[in-house]
Amino acid sequence: MKVERIVVGKLATNCYLFISGQESAIIDPGDEADKILTQVEKTKTKVKYIINTHSHFDHILASDELREKTGAAVLIHEEEKKLVNFKVDKFLKEKDKIKIGSAVLEVVHTPGHTPGGICLSGKEVIFTGDTIFKNGYGRTDLANGSFEKLKDSLKKLAGLLKPGITVYPGHGEPFKINK
Ligand SMILES: [Zn+2]
Repeated sequence: MKVERIVVGKLATNCYLFISGQESAIIDPGDEADKILTQVEKTKTKVKYIINTHSHFDHILASDELREKTGAAVLIHEEEKKLVNFKVDKFLKEKDKIKIGSAVLEVVHTPGHTPGGICLSGKEVIFTGDTIFKNGYGRTDLANGSFEKLKDSLKKLAGLLKPGITVYPGHGEPFKINK
């Protein structure tokens, strides 16, 4: 299993390539499809999924173009349905398991920043979108945000942030949970 980070777009969004064996997933293709594709080609993997942690524009702008060019299936949580303006192949729900190569990412529904925000939890890794960052958590003052829901999501996440886990947020540096 390997993770590559590509910083894209006006808001410096982290797009990640999650690679296991011959397969990969693109997480949060925020913009700059060509830059993402160039990086994907270097991995010599087949892109199985494009996973959007939530529907904000700075996380999804390259989703349609990459879907077209890679043939990968686009996934997002079902509670983002009303907010989506790009093509989606499958809506996700809590505890869905996404298989990439021999690795599995489990869907953790973490509403608050948006209603259908998700984290993706794997062995020793978690992708947190705009729910948590190295020095804080996501805004809840945007449309459809809820601070009450975010508080519950942060509690839920606390149980998953075990020592040794590397956190890959939607913006800023990834970081490791220390002992
Ligand atoms: Zn966002």
